[in-house]
Amino acid sequence: MKSRPTGRLQTVRGGFKMGAPGLTPPLLCQRVIDMQLRMRIVAGLFCCSLIGLNCVRGEDAPSAPASATASTNAANSSDAGSTPKESQQGKNVVLWISTDGCRGDYVDRGETPYLRSLMDHGNYSRQLTPIFPSITFASHSTEATGVPAGMHGVMSNKFYDMTVGQEYNLPSDPHLLLSEPIWQTATRQGIRCAVMDWPLSQGEDKLPPETPKAAYYNEKFDTKLSDADRLQKLVDAYRKDFENPENKQPLQLLMGYGFALDHIGHQDGPESEALTKTLRETDGVLEKTIGQVCDIFKEHMHPEQGDKLYILLTTDHGMETVEKLVSLKHLMGRWGIDPDPVRAVWSCSVANIYLNDVPGPEREKVKQSIIDNLKKADCLRFWTREELPEKWGYNNPNRTGDIVVCLNSGYYFSNHDYPHEMPVTADPKTLKGMHGYDPEIDPKMQGFMMLYRWGSDEPGRDLGRVDTMQIHPTVAKLLGIKPAPNATATPIDPLP
Ligand SMILES: [Zn+2]
Repeated sequence: MKSRPTGRLQTVRGGFKMGAPGLTPPLLCQRVIDMQLRMRIVAGLFCCSLIGLNCVRGEDAPSAPASATASTNAANSSDAGSTPKESQQGKNVVLWISTDGCRGDYVDRGETPYLRSLMDHGNYSRQLTPIFPSITFASHSTEATGVPAGMHGVMSNKFYDMTVGQEYNLPSDPHLLLSEPIWQTATRQGIRCAVMDWPLSQGEDKLPPETPKAAYYNEKFDTKLSDADRLQKLVDAYRKDFENPENKQPLQLLMGYGFALDHIGHQDGPESEALTKTLRETDGVLEKTIGQVCDIFKEHMHPEQGDKLYILLTTDHGMETVEKLVSLKHLMGRWGIDPDPVRAVWSCSVANIYLNDVPGPEREKVKQSIIDNLKKADCLRFWTREELPEKWGYNNPNRTGDIVVCLNSGYYFSNHDYPHEMPVTADPKTLKGMHGYDPEIDPKMQGFMMLYRWGSDEPGRDLGRVDTMQIHPTVAKLLGIKPAPNATATPIDPLP
C-alpha cells in the first residue's frame, strides 16, 4: 500500500524579517579552486555550489558580506477584489524548489523516503536533462526563462561580455538576464510571486520601474544560510503574506533554492558517504518545507472549491566523479605568456576562450595556434563559435567565446603548473565531483524532477526524459498564463 504524502505542521523558527543583514552575492556551483584559493576562502567550503568557478586569469570569487533585505514589492502585492479567504476559487499555487546538483539516480539510494513517497503519487523524472552547459547559473536561467543560454545570456557561472569588456563571476545583477524569467512573466499577467535565492533573482529593484517584479525577492544571496533556513524564508513570506489585509490576492508562485547537495557532491564526490548523509538531510528539509506550505495552503486557500497546490521539485544538473586534472593554459599552449591577451574563462568543465583583445592582425594566427594545440588533447572537445552545435543554442554574439572547450567526463580544470593530465589523487584537496559535461553524452548530468499535486492519490508516473526548457512553459500552464514569448517548448504532459 502506498501512502499519501502528508503536510505535517512544523514549528517555524523565527519569523519572516524585513531588512535582515548579512546577505552576500550569490555564488553557486562549484568554485573550482586550487589550493591557495581554497585556503583563502572562508572555511574553504561552500562553494561549489557556491563557489563556483575559476578562470585561467584567476579572479577570485565573491564577496564580502553586504547588508540587504528580503524585499516586498508593494506595487505588486495587491489587486482589486476581496480577501484571499473570500475570493480564491479555482486558483493553482505552485511551490517550486530547486535542489542544486540532485542527480537523477540519487532517489534510488534508499535515503530519501519523503521523495519516494511523493513519487508514489506524482509525475517524476530521473532524466531532467539540462541545456549545455550543465552548469548552475546557465541551467537555472534556462529553467526560469524557458530558453537556451545563448538567448538568456547567462553562459555559465562565469563568463565575459566582449561589448562591455566585463567579466562576471556568479553574478547577481538582474540586468544580465536577457530573457524574461517566470516570476516576471507571471507578475506581468497578474500572478503574485515570491522568489527567494534563485540565481539572477536578486536585486530586482535595480530594474526599470516598468519591469514587473515579484512581490518578494532577496536583494542579495546569503551564502551562510543552510538550506533549511533559506527555504524557511520562503515559507515565512508565504505565511506572513496572508496576514497583511492589503494583499487581496494570494501568492501563487513560490520559488526556493538549496545547494547543500551540490556542495557536498563537489567536495566529497557523488559516491561518498558524506553525500549520502546530505541526501538524507535534504529529504528532511524538503519534507519540512513542503509540509509547512501545505499547512498554510490548507488554512488560507480553498481546496474544496478547486484551489490546488502543486509541488515542483527540480535541479540544474547531476554530478560526475572527478578522476583527472588538466591545465587549460597548457592545453591551449599559452602557459607562461603573461600578460596574455587571450582571455580564457572557465567554470566547472567548460571554458570560453575570447580573442577580442588580441590585436587584429595576429588574431587568426593565435586562434589557429590554440586550435592546433587543443587538437592534440584527447580529454576534451572544442568548437569555434561558428561551429557550435545549433541544438545547444549556445551562440550569443557578445558572451560566447571564440572557442568553446568542454572536457570529457571525469576531467576537471586545475590551475596547477603541470603540462600533462594528473590523477585527482595527486591533489587530495581538489574537488571530487564536477558537472558541466555534455548532458547528451553523460547521463550523470541528468537530474531528478518531481511534479506532485498535493492530495493526489493517482499512481505515480515516470515521465522519462524531461528537458529543462519545458519547465517554464509547464509552470505557466499550471498558473493559467502565457509563457514568455520565446519559451516555446512543450509543457510536461501529462500534468498530475
Ligand atoms: Zn556545482
